[in-house]
Amino acid sequence: MGFLDGIFERKTCDICGEKCGVLGGTKLKDGRLDKNCVNKLSPLLGYLKNYTVEDIKEHLAYREHNEEIVKGFNVTHIAGADGTRLYIDAENRLFFVSGSDNWRASNPDVLSFDQIIDGDLNIVEDKKEIMKKDEAGKEVSYNPKRYEYSYNFYVKVNVNSPWFNSLNIKVNRNKIDGFDNEAYDDAYLYSEEVCEVINMLKDAEPDEITEAIDYFKDRIAQPKRKYDVTYYADTKSLRKGHDYYIQRDPRKSHYRF
Ligand SMILES: [Zn+2]
Repeated sequence: MGFLDGIFERKTCDICGEKCGVLGGTKLKDGRLDKNCVNKLSPLLGYLKNYTVEDIKEHLAYREHNEEIVKGFNVTHIAGADGTRLYIDAENRLFFVSGSDNWRASNPDVLSFDQIIDGDLNIVEDKKEIMKKDEAGKEVSYNPKRYEYSYNFYVKVNVNSPWFNSLNIKVNRNKIDGFDNEAYDDAYLYSEEVCEVINMLKDAEPDEITEAIDYFKDRIAQPKRKYDVTYYADTKSLRKGHDYYIQRDPRKSHYRF
């Protein structure tokens, strides 16, 4: 056996026995996986080096079972916008989240309503300073400094699952530029909808879910609202309450009432 033989000998996958890529596949605690087996794992699974080959066998059995549940999943409600959406089967008390219209092909992890711990709205604001040129052509700050803002809207769902602790729903597909526009308003309302629906699933009847989704559909369909103190005032049925949403909306620091 020559010196280089060992280097070029391909390692094999500990699940299916196929040859791993030239870089040796994906490492587990006590073995490795080829690309094909990695693609079958839940994307929500954490750092793979924390799992043994036995753990992964168990996980793949769970994924196969999940695929069967996905086949029988009957979508009764959809909440959310054009990013990741929340799909609900109210009759069977099941849900999953997916950013794809062709969700069946991606085998999304299906959870029961009873696995939900809670959902939290998180709007992430990014700011970039707007500069101007001085007489010498040098970039300088405005006084006071000026910024342009952009936003992503998330609902983090904490869950009880042997395989992951949370799902992060990114409600908007594309980053929203600025806060004083319809795109922000819509993304905000869709996020509130997803957050409210997630928090009601544990103990909601199917018609209550319908009612909540219709309520947000109506609000989103309204002509552009002016953001002011009354913005949250008609939302008395909110599970999380007005103060919760006001505190999580970055607009509160940009407008003075
Ligand atoms: Zn494999």
